[in-house]
Amino acid sequence: MTFLLDDDELLLQQTVRSYFDKRVAPLVAEHERNRTFPWELLPELYEFGFVRGVASEADGGDAISYMALAVLMEEAGRCWGSLRTTVNIASMVARLLSVAGTPEQKERFLTPLLRGERYGWFALTEPDAGSDAGALRTSARPDGDGYRITGNKLYITNGMGGDFGIVLADVPGHGVSAFLVDKEESPYVCADIPHLPVRSTTSCELAFDEVFVPAGNLVGELGGGFALAMNAVNMGRLNMSMGAVGIMQACLEASIAYTTSRHQFGKPIAGFQLVQQMVVEIATLTETSRLLGYKAARTLDAGLPGRYECSMAKYHCGESAGRAATLALQVHGGAGLMEESPVERYFRDAREATIPEGTTQIQILQMGKHLLGVSAMR
Ligand SMILES: Cc1cc2nc3c(=O)[nH]c(=O)nc-3n(C[C@H](O)[C@H](O)[C@H](O)COP(=O)(O)OP(=O)(O)OC[C@H]3O[C@@H](n4cnc5c(N)ncnc54)[C@H](O)[C@@H]3O)c2cc1C
Repeated sequence: MTFLLDDDELLLQQTVRSYFDKRVAPLVAEHERNRTFPWELLPELYEFGFVRGVASEADGGDAISYMALAVLMEEAGRCWGSLRTTVNIASMVARLLSVAGTPEQKERFLTPLLRGERYGWFALTEPDAGSDAGALRTSARPDGDGYRITGNKLYITNGMGGDFGIVLADVPGHGVSAFLVDKEESPYVCADIPHLPVRSTTSCELAFDEVFVPAGNLVGELGGGFALAMNAVNMGRLNMSMGAVGIMQACLEASIAYTTSRHQFGKPIAGFQLVQQMVVEIATLTETSRLLGYKAARTLDAGLPGRYECSMAKYHCGESAGRAATLALQVHGGAGLMEESPVERYFRDAREATIPEGTTQIQILQMGKHLLGVSAMR
């Protein structure tokens, strides 16, 4: 597949893969077991273009291409799903602030975020507004020189680890707007919800009860929050797709290593046709997914909206990752189901890829609308 990347992209891929293999991979098992995350690694990661790459140079970012972002996210996914998810959320926040933040907001939130000194979460989903993100109930009521936010946000990645975040809330008469919420300035309640995939992230419920947020924390225009969020989510779809490709690549490598060394009936199990079929299916799912992810990245790099391409990549990569990880478990036999095997983690993490940033069904409906001109959502 190397001819699909130019020399710079190839070098980036090799450099970041080598870093992950040497510096990060040895830490993964213990952090996953303890459900902790090595936050101190983030500034090192940002040197490769993670998070910093999605902000403009004027804002202190590296303004990398979407293709470079795709390469980074595949390598992160190949190493550790929790890390890929963590840098994805920070990237969405960084992108949103770089595009729409005021100079003061950038100085206070974006600059330390890009240095790895602060971490920000992104809160759109609510108990009664998941796929139907437009139905959110959290409100921001004007009050003096600010707003009072009331409502609950659900499944917010790294709500525990972040010291600020972006909340999407309805401002009566104006519509959904984006607000920066700082934990110290505007205390809210945060509770972790134990979950199946990406165990070194927290998945939190955030509760806001008349929480005061200064007017200066409004990001972008009043009523412009949903468009900003969807812009960040589109990039998140590319990131999630390529993270899923990374998981599939890891499944493939593990399956080749295992099937060529595990013997049954007097020979390596790689010599059985039914085993070969499973390994080849993992390889085919990985390659087709990677091609769709690359296509989405190249589309965005061409300056096109890329909504359809990102949805198709997310749909195919997410579903394929689940299938590839199931097959990887199968070729590992009982060993694959043991927590000491990395494929057990790949299987759990692959299940994430069909849900956040729009479920598989939502991607299908969005592509259906694009192709057919009719919305099947309502
Ligand atoms: C690990 C994880 C991390 C997350 N991180 C964040 C985060 O950081 N910030 C954030 O804001 N959110 C986050 N989320 C929330 C995520 O975006 C939502 O879970 C997702 O959008 C789906 O919403 P829901 O869970 O309410 O499912 P629902 O919307 O209730 O969907 C349930 C099922 O119904 C299907 N469905 C719904 N509507 C339709 C329809 N019209 N037609 C066909 N099928 C339909 C869905 O596809 C799904 O299969 C995270 C979720 C997870 C699991």
